[in-house]
Amino acid sequence: MIILSAHFPLVFHVPDDSTRNELQTQRNGHAGVVFLGTGTSVGVPALGCQCEVCRSTDPRNNRTRCAIVIQTAKGNILIDTPPDLRTQLLREKIGLVHATVFTHEHADHIFGLDDLRLFPFRLGGPMPLYCNAEVEQRIRKSFDYAFIERQHTHPGAVPQLEFSRIDTSPFEVFGVPFVPIPMKHGPHFNVFGFRIGNFAYCTDTNEIPESSMRLLAGVDTFVIGALRERVHPTHFNVEQAVAVARQLSPRQTWLTHLSHDLDHATTSSQLPDGIDLAYDGLRLAIELDPTVTNRS
Ligand SMILES: [Zn+2]
Ligand SMILES: [Zn+2]
Ligand SMILES: [Zn+2]
Repeated sequence: MIILSAHFPLVFHVPDDSTRNELQTQRNGHAGVVFLGTGTSVGVPALGCQCEVCRSTDPRNNRTRCAIVIQTAKGNILIDTPPDLRTQLLREKIGLVHATVFTHEHADHIFGLDDLRLFPFRLGGPMPLYCNAEVEQRIRKSFDYAFIERQHTHPGAVPQLEFSRIDTSPFEVFGVPFVPIPMKHGPHFNVFGFRIGNFAYCTDTNEIPESSMRLLAGVDTFVIGALRERVHPTHFNVEQAVAVARQLSPRQTWLTHLSHDLDHATTSSQLPDGIDLAYDGLRLAIELDPTVTNRS
């Protein structure tokens, strides 16, 4: 197929992919979640490391940097743009992202932003980015070439981006309801988790205030960051993440943002029922009605 866009006057060959079919199979009220990455900021294996987990042949110990895609009837909503983004989207056969939402501005969550450059050709307009003021400021600084006011040599030379400011108020992306969950990521840094219907995604935190725990009440499927066994100054360890999960008691909890300290099989065998390690490529079904429980 060839698309001629008025906005981007360039002939663009749309790749064959499963995106269209997947969108058609998502009914209103239902959505899919695809885990693009479940690793800590340096990924697993870590460069130059010869530990057992980094040398493991278990594919679940191969963890790229953290992101998920919410697949809805209206479009694919990406949460964060990690440095591995292109290979993650190719691996999961997700040929198009319609909007992106950001948790926070750390490098492992934004430095794949340039990989969104192709999508505006197919969207017919800039990529919508939903983020707070701090993330926008970091993106404008780190990707300054996308915002320079001058004639570019050719369409698509730089990412076409359009910011939508978010704060602690609930917002919608294509009618999909997002509830921001304010969390601490170390003593002086604030990040957002997000509740989407009966699902919540809360990575990169070591403290969820009581007011935010109330926003998570009744969640059915809960994703929480858990870096390693030892305590860390800015991330929950496994014990702390399990304690948060026990307090909320969702049907199912998935731990993410995992370091090379955690071997998938060993750690999984030690976790309580209903709490498991996420892995790259994990796919879940969620309900956009926050009160619906998924039955597996
Ligand atoms: Zn991170
Ligand atoms: Zn290692
Ligand atoms: Zn972080």
